[in-house]
Amino acid sequence: MSAPLACPQCTLENTYPDGDNYVCADCGYEWPIAAAADSEEDDDAVIKDANGNVLTNGDSVVLIKDLKVKGSSTTLKVGTKVKSIRLVGGDHEVDCKMDAGNFMLKACYLRKV
Ligand SMILES: [Zn+2]
Repeated sequence: MSAPLACPQCTLENTYPDGDNYVCADCGYEWPIAAAADSEEDDDAVIKDANGNVLTNGDSVVLIKDLKVKGSSTTLKVGTKVKSIRLVGGDHEVDCKMDAGNFMLKACYLRKV
């Protein structure tokens, strides 16, 4: 395995892998190896459209289904094109400026064009 990691609990580096976990010999703390590896990637920051394509700020997208806007009678029609999206993270991660207004939409209802 790789060089010893600092223990998240006591910060000493007297650690070793044991099965799926790292174990700290000093304080006995155990933590999963998978979690340690994940923290170095930035998977959470990647937002993907309905087809699994990665979206970035400024992309153009189309809606792949009709979306009712909460609290209004507005329905955003399937096929509506949105230019220059802005990614904001969170539950509704795509900020879309349209003729009908400004809407926060889920990336899973969008397709990159
Ligand atoms: Zn420790």
